[in-house]
Amino acid sequence: MTGRVLVLGGTAEARRLAERLVAEGVDVLSSLAGRVVDPVLPPGKLRVGGFGGATGLATALDGVAALVDATHPFAATMTAHAAAAAAATGTPLLRLQRPGWTARPGDDWRWVDSLEQAATAVTGFGSVFLTTGRQGLAAFAGLTGRCLVRSVDPPSPPLPAQATVLLARGPFTVQDELAVLREHDVEVLVTKDSGGPMTAAKLTAARQLGVPVVLVRRPPLPDGLPVVATVDEAQDWVAARVL
Ligand code: NAP
Repeated sequence: MTGRVLVLGGTAEARRLAERLVAEGVDVLSSLAGRVVDPVLPPGKLRVGGFGGATGLATALDGVAALVDATHPFAATMTAHAAAAAAATGTPLLRLQRPGWTARPGDDWRWVDSLEQAATAVTGFGSVFLTTGRQGLAAFAGLTGRCLVRSVDPPSPPLPAQATVLLARGPFTVQDELAVLREHDVEVLVTKDSGGPMTAAKLTAARQLGVPVVLVRRPPLPDGLPVVATVDEAQDWVAARVL
């Protein structure tokens, strides 16, 4: 084995990749932003907190043989910093990003480009279910209808005037989601296009109940960034560089 692998994490895929690589004897350092109070931790070495921009990350790449950016599809700043730092230091970089969701027959999906546009799209609905995470909720602060806000940790103000906070961490089942939608008389659901099975049940439940869904499109990736969709592919890419 030669060299350390730095995995930029905060996702289930990042954790699974770290598990696989550690089991293969790879020297893995996982990095978390430190946003979640009680995160599920990956095996191997761990560091928590920002690097101090692309320059700080470039410094942290000293001794790193390969960098895997497995952050969330909406962690656009970290992804841009990873691309810049990898280019500056000549470190091989791979983006591991799960595919986005695809509509099925019966879905009423309304695509928007930002949380602000999502807030506009749900204006006038009497009961909104916000599942976009606790960051960026300020975009919805002007909503006047009932808003159910679900997040892992308590969100900070400003929140919509009639907000009910539901603290929960996925995965959720379709039965769980049907119960939430019914109990709160949800009229419209808002989500980022996070993709993956962990939080997809809400889309099935919305389809079954005829609830429209406002989906926020993913931010674009930096040009030329190599991307894989699965942990298997990322594991092979790392193995080819450090084993
Ligand atoms: P972001 O806006 O792209 O990142 C903002 C800053 O946070 C970065 O510039 C970096 O600070 C620091 N950072 C982000 N990810 C980091 C990591 N893995 N290790 C060390 N520092 C990190 O990202 P975000 O949307 O705040 O997301 C933060 C973390 O939460 C990510 O790790 C992501 O995978 C996870 N997450 C995000 C979402 C979401 O919807 N955005 C959802 C679920 C999980 P410096 O510039 O100081 O290095």
